[in-house]
Amino acid sequence: MSNNEYTKRLENVIKQMLQPLKDIPFNLVIESMTGKKVIKIDTFYPSSKTCHICGKKNENLKLSDREWTCEHCGTTHDRDINASINILNEGLRISGMVVPSTQMEAKIRLPRGEAQACEICSSI
Ligand SMILES: [Zn+2]
Repeated sequence: MSNNEYTKRLENVIKQMLQPLKDIPFNLVIESMTGKKVIKIDTFYPSSKTCHICGKKNENLKLSDREWTCEHCGTTHDRDINASINILNEGLRISGMVVPSTQMEAKIRLPRGEAQACEICSSI
């Protein structure tokens, strides 16, 4: 058997093994593999454009802008870190763990009722 034939057969075996998972929602597969809750946020949520400190959007942000400064509060952001904080906050909001009256006053509701500072940005 050639390498190509072997690879084709192996691909077919893997496809057959994964077939039962085909109709299971992706988040349930990940949750069962990791034991963690998966929360889907809106595809069009502006995570890069939104200042995670004050919540204002930078409508002029281009894909090539890797760093930007918020015109409203003056905070300079690394595009990817700002986006990841916004995605985390949105996931927490959707899950009901955060009730933001404003972005700056967001509080995380932990099961014990204690607030905890964000490990990334130190905000509460
Ligand atoms: Zn800002």
